Amino acid sequence: MKYYSTNKKAPIADLHKAVVKGLAEDRGLYMPEQIKQLPQAIFDHIEQYSFQEIAYTVADAFFGEDVEQEALKKIVYDTLTFDCPVVKVEDNIYSLELFHGPTLAFKDVGARFMARLLQYFIRKEGSDGEVNVLVATSGDTGSAVANGFLGVDGIHVYVLYPKGKVSKIQESQFTTLGQNITAIEVDGVFDDCQALVKNAFMDEELNHHMKLTSANSINVARFLPQAFYYFNAYARMKEQGLAENLVMCVPSGNFGNICAALFGHTMGLPVKRFIAANNANDIFFQYLQTGRYEPKPTRQTLANAMDVGDPSNFARIYDLYGESHARISSLISGATYSDEQIADTMRRCHTTTGYILDPHGACGYQALKDGLRPGEVGVFCETAHPAKFKEKVDAIDSIDVEIPERLAAFMKGQKQSIALSKDFADFKNYLLRRS
Ligand SMILES: *Cc1c(COP(=O)(O)O)cnc(C)c1O
Repeated sequence: MKYYSTNKKAPIADLHKAVVKGLAEDRGLYMPEQIKQLPQAIFDHIEQYSFQEIAYTVADAFFGEDVEQEALKKIVYDTLTFDCPVVKVEDNIYSLELFHGPTLAFKDVGARFMARLLQYFIRKEGSDGEVNVLVATSGDTGSAVANGFLGVDGIHVYVLYPKGKVSKIQESQFTTLGQNITAIEVDGVFDDCQALVKNAFMDEELNHHMKLTSANSINVARFLPQAFYYFNAYARMKEQGLAENLVMCVPSGNFGNICAALFGHTMGLPVKRFIAANNANDIFFQYLQTGRYEPKPTRQTLANAMDVGDPSNFARIYDLYGESHARISSLISGATYSDEQIADTMRRCHTTTGYILDPHGACGYQALKDGLRPGEVGVFCETAHPAKFKEKVDAIDSIDVEIPERLAAFMKGQKQSIALSKDFADFKNYLLRRS
């Protein structure tokens, strides 16, 4: 498969290049030249297949030309060592629980897949020395990437995070791992961490001495695998005879997760329509109303992983539908919620159904409550486990959310991190000494 850039000014890339580079030379996002339609026979019997079998079928359509069958199967099965079940919350509303992975959020799926695909290319092409993944994080991305790459041979990960600006739970998920993961505590804010990473990619001397790559969420190997669980959700709903008028609702920030669902739809996934649920960062919602895409400064909200004022993957959605507002707004509708509404939703859902929502999933649940039409059945993504936001959830719902064992285990680990200033020279020297 060849990949083009959404800005259409960069050379066509193969999968290997698209994965290693992440972003095209013209700063556009890579798009596959073709999205293969799955045969109708697969949908006729999809409920008879397991999650892993379904995922492999989808992976084969995207990556089958570039990765040998057995290797791809192993990558898919090693990625999905946990389930993404669909759980009933109330009549006609179901939760697609994406928090059963190692760091309790959906980003585990893409990060684990990308780590294994990168390893496949390193082994196949042979590599003189390690590949180094640099990632800046304000919390959640660092943990998913670090755990996704943990113990993967031939790859070393450097997670840069701002000192004192990341919660203890989040910090423990990437500072206690050891092995091929190095956490770097930067005396600065998130933007300083991001600047260090960007400067490193542009520094010739550094790139001459070591192989550097990014594991950004716009990477095709991170976002496409998210389609796996939408196909599986359809299968599990069909099993129960509930797949007739299905609506998928995705709490969205950078729009990678919903974009994967839309790719699934293009491949033939029989979902009737989609809802993108926003917090107060409602750029996409506004676009649907007005036809104008106007990025805004990010606003901090309760659902902070969705605090994005200029969602990167809008470029992919725009491209996928031929830049047509009519096509986009006839398939996708929007919703937007204030912090007060999110908290109300969490409280009300817990009291009336017993289901504990996290602040992100709450946007998805409420958008179905508000937007489902008669005869439709809705599935929303519960994108993270409520215990990841324990303080907020406990206070809002007046409960004491149980911390899952695998999250508690991180918190018992010994913190290991390197302290650096926000000066690029310090970071560069540190990397050069290590190479
Ligand atoms: C990243 C994230 C989101 C937003 O997903 P996008 O793909 O950026 O739209 C929503 N919820 C949680 C918990 C996240 O970590």
